[in-house]
This record gives sequence, C-alpha cells and structure tokens, in this order.
Amino acid sequence: MEWSINKGSRVCFHCEKIFPEEEVYHSVLYDENNMFVRRDFCLECWDKKSDENIFSYWKTKISKKPEKVEKYAKTDVFYDLFNKLENEQDLSRVNFRYVLSLYLLRKKLLKLTTTRKSGDNEYLVLHNVKEGIDTEVLKPQLSKEEVLAVTDEIGKLVNCTL
Ligand SMILES: [Zn+2]
Repeated sequence: MEWSINKGSRVCFHCEKIFPEEEVYHSVLYDENNMFVRRDFCLECWDKKSDENIFSYWKTKISKKPEKVEKYAKTDVFYDLFNKLENEQDLSRVNFRYVLSLYLLRKKLLKLTTTRKSGDNEYLVLHNVKEGIDTEVLKPQLSKEEVLAVTDEIGKLVNCTL
C-alpha cells in the first residue's frame, strides 16, 4: 500500500491557469456535506480561495519530468488527516482513519501498543511517536478488498495513482 503523488488537476480551481513545470501550488481538502473534495490553487489565488470547510491542505510541486513526479506522497499529509479524523463517527471516516493508521504504522509514525475489545468493537491502541501520546483507532470489519477500496479512495482524494 503506497499512495503516489497526484499530478493533480494541473489547473488552478480559481483562475484556471494551467500549472507549468516546477510550479508550486496548494492543494486543499474541503469537507463539504460530509464529502471530501480536493481543489488545487496557484499561489496568487491562495488568498482568494474559500476558507469555509477546509479540512486540510498541503503544498504540491509539479515535477519537471512528469514520469519522475515525486513518487510517494508526503507522509505528513496523511499524518495530519489521521489526527484530524480522531473524533469522527461517520463510518466512511472511521474506515479512512483505520487505513491511514495502517500506512502510518508502516512508516513507523505510529506503534501498535495493544488491542482492546469493547462490546463488539475492537480498537487498536497506538502510540503516536511524534507527539508521544496514545491514540485509539476503531478497527472496522473490513475485508482485504474493502481496505484496498478505501486506500484507493484516499489515493484519489489526496493523490492519485499515476
Ligand atoms: Zn489561480
């Protein structure tokens, strides 16, 4: 499971300027009616974007050679999403957070301390290495295929496979 960097829309959402090679721009993840929507903005339009419903944002750079686009997404984008999803109850977001935790475990930003059962629910008790705190993740009843589907969904939002 890896998420590769999105070439992005390559177009500013506001002014519709096409990003040239090596252009640095901002990608914003909006939370609109419980749906995540990604929009890209050039630096000039950064101040003109809507500040409402911003869930997360990060910088992206158009690589010189498209085929050599930075291969893997910045882990801190996923780390930020993981932290922001902490108190979400919505099932798709619980699933998101679980899949993000698998990724961050592999990146060693999280360490599995133990698992805990509460009623029908199973939780992963994770140590957040960066913050030095523990956090719990509800382990959803997902098949391998469903985990892959969620991975794909996150990949499309934050990045997309090349
Ligand atoms: Zn623009």
